[in-house]
Amino acid sequence: MSHSFQNFIGGRWVPARSGRTFANLDPATGETLGEFPASGPEDVNDAIEAAAKAFASWRLVPAPKRAEVVFRAGEIIRQRKADLARAMTGEMGKVLAEAGGDVQEGIDMAFYAAGEGRRMHGVTTPSEMPDKWAMSVRVPIGVTGVITPWNFPFAIPTWKLMPALVAGNTAVFKPATDTPELAGHLAAILAEAGLPAGVLNLVYGSGSQVGDPLVADPRVPAISFTGSTDVGLGISSRAGALGKRVALEMGGKNAILVLDDADLTLATEAILWSAFGTTGQRCTACSRVLAHQRVHDELVQRVADGARALRLGHGLDPATQVGPLVNRAQLERVEDYVRIGRAAGASVVAGGERASEGALAKGHFHRPTVFAGVAADARIAVEEIFGPVLAVVKVKDFAEAVRVNNASSFGLSASIFTRDVQRAFAAMRDLETGIVYVNHGTTGAEIHLPFGGMRGTGNGHREAGPTLLDPFTEWKSVYVDFSGRLQRAQIDNQI
Ligand code: NAP
Ligand code: MG
Repeated sequence: MSHSFQNFIGGRWVPARSGRTFANLDPATGETLGEFPASGPEDVNDAIEAAAKAFASWRLVPAPKRAEVVFRAGEIIRQRKADLARAMTGEMGKVLAEAGGDVQEGIDMAFYAAGEGRRMHGVTTPSEMPDKWAMSVRVPIGVTGVITPWNFPFAIPTWKLMPALVAGNTAVFKPATDTPELAGHLAAILAEAGLPAGVLNLVYGSGSQVGDPLVADPRVPAISFTGSTDVGLGISSRAGALGKRVALEMGGKNAILVLDDADLTLATEAILWSAFGTTGQRCTACSRVLAHQRVHDELVQRVADGARALRLGHGLDPATQVGPLVNRAQLERVEDYVRIGRAAGASVVAGGERASEGALAKGHFHRPTVFAGVAADARIAVEEIFGPVLAVVKVKDFAEAVRVNNASSFGLSASIFTRDVQRAFAAMRDLETGIVYVNHGTTGAEIHLPFGGMRGTGNGHREAGPTLLDPFTEWKSVYVDFSGRLQRAQIDNQI
């Protein structure tokens, strides 16, 4: 059954001014799940106006009270977790258990971010002058533009919106076109939890029609973006030229290093989960295995056997382990990379083609694919594919594994399998990624630790964790002189 959804602007559900819509499709079946407004710059303008107006009063609501709204939203999300997860599997394709995990991250973030309402600590510190008080406090920035990808349709918007709102900002939220429904549920839940009109505004539509005008508008001083590197860098240069604050979370090419003393059973399980969970469409997905020469052949065999045994299907079928790619373009991208890998001389030891038997023919399914004999600098070992394709690279020792890991232009997540505490600690120190795992795959971040990547993955911000307010607040330093006389810092206090 197909439903009709609307933008949420100034506390009201409204269609695009143009009246145009687009369809949300189930990538496993091609079925239309809903119609959404195909908005344009005029709708973005309405949303920014509403957000700017609401900022005047929202910033003055005490932070603990702002946070209570987010806390209540967390409670509502928890009650509706199962329905939200089903809707997510429908519009995005990931299997139901993983969709539940995505919603759970939103619940975790709601409660964690709500706690910040009663912390949001600043610093009080002595002044160098007598009879003078010095402190610094966090203040909201204003209207934040939040632009999110389709692969975590619920969790990623919560990581951005909840801290932004608790900190006293208002927001204009542009979700990915491939996963509009969960964004609508999140906005509705926050409104139901008591968020005043205009504090959160949701505008559906394309990157060029909605994203671009949001990034370009001078009334939006902060942009928080998660998505591809190309789009992120474009946003960063346009917004940067306007002096805006931009937080970027972008691509990854995450590696699992398997040393010669690794537990191969555990490593194989972790590789299969990290590489093919969410059909390889996680920003932290493992897409490279750097295998020590002494375990390489056995590991390739085990991983290939495991990949061939994974069951493809609709994510709502409890027997399914791997769902579809999110859309046709992603499926074709995967096929292109499989051709590129073959042409460069790597060998396909599992998968390597679309899956189209029976009901799979209706969706964007590709078999979990493993390449062996991949050169460390081959395109399939260097470029983000964002699909169920794994490249295994043979390395001669630990040092080479670290070197190959760090040669990537991305730096989100890395993992090492070893029983040697010395090499484990050396890896924790030397792997140049924002997240490092030991004897665990590359995925599975928890929301109370900083999340983000080094080098090409980001621009230095970290979401979640104790850093969660950083992209959404400014520091204000305040000096109060109660001496009753002019005291000149650095001049009148020399002893
Ligand atoms: P994407 O194509 O870059 O899109 C991300 C968002 O940007 C979407 O909402 C998109 O809108 C919008 N957009 C596109 N063009 C725009 C423009 N010119 N101005 C403003 N906004 C624009 O990425 P995706 O395909 O949705 O997601 C996959 C990518 O996200 C992968 O590269 C993955 O690594 C990355 N990712 C990174 C992290 C991380 O934390 N590092 C987490 C998850 C995903 P439309 O949907 O309408 O095109
Ligand atoms: Mg969809």
